[in-house]
Amino acid sequence: SNPSELQPLDYNLTDKERFKDVEYLNLNCAYCQTKFLFGGIMASLHYQVTFSGIKCSNCEKVLPTLMITSQLERIIRSFISLHYAGWLVCDDPACGVITRQISVYGRRCIGLSGRSQDCRGIMSYRFNDKQLYTQLLYFDSIFNVEKNKKRELKPLDDADTSSDKGPELLSSGQVVALAEQNRELFEVIRTVTQKYLTNNARRYVDMSGIFGFMIPEEE
Ligand SMILES: [Zn+2]
Ligand SMILES: [Zn+2]
Repeated sequence: SNPSELQPLDYNLTDKERFKDVEYLNLNCAYCQTKFLFGGIMASLHYQVTFSGIKCSNCEKVLPTLMITSQLERIIRSFISLHYAGWLVCDDPACGVITRQISVYGRRCIGLSGRSQDCRGIMSYRFNDKQLYTQLLYFDSIFNVEKNKKRELKPLDDADTSSDKGPELLSSGQVVALAEQNRELFEVIRTVTQKYLTNNARRYVDMSGIFGFMIPEEE
């Protein structure tokens, strides 16, 4: 089965809603050292998806596949280690304590004093299972040819406020043609995320909820 097609609990959400808190993929063009946010085949001032791949708008060079896959893999691994590092964050915005120290009072915030006296907030994992899973699903979505073709991806607009002159918009015909032309490239890049999704899906998704219909009812 393909884990990226498994839906988390909130399966009614659009990608725009589901991925509202995820981090964009921040790629670095190793030719000119420009960093840009890649959000799939869409208008951007910083990159362009061409018939020969993803092109950096600053130096006009097409990024080699390995430049993308190795960065994506490094970013995914950094999210996974952030998750396993077990950082806890206080839910009281006025407090904002971030710690790896578990309070002797359970999930109560240890507060700035470290003695659980000055805050009534509750600590929770900064990057929990579901957040990590959602982040991986987002990285998977931006290289998903079908989602690109349907223009269902989380938009970059809100992240791209660096200029008042907007990027040139793409027609749906252009998007479909570019998606098909880059199918092989995108599928290679997707295997990076797929590897981690496959390894981790069982932990992040309520499998019984998804496959419950397959479990025979007791007589
Ligand atoms: Zn460049
Ligand atoms: Zn607190």
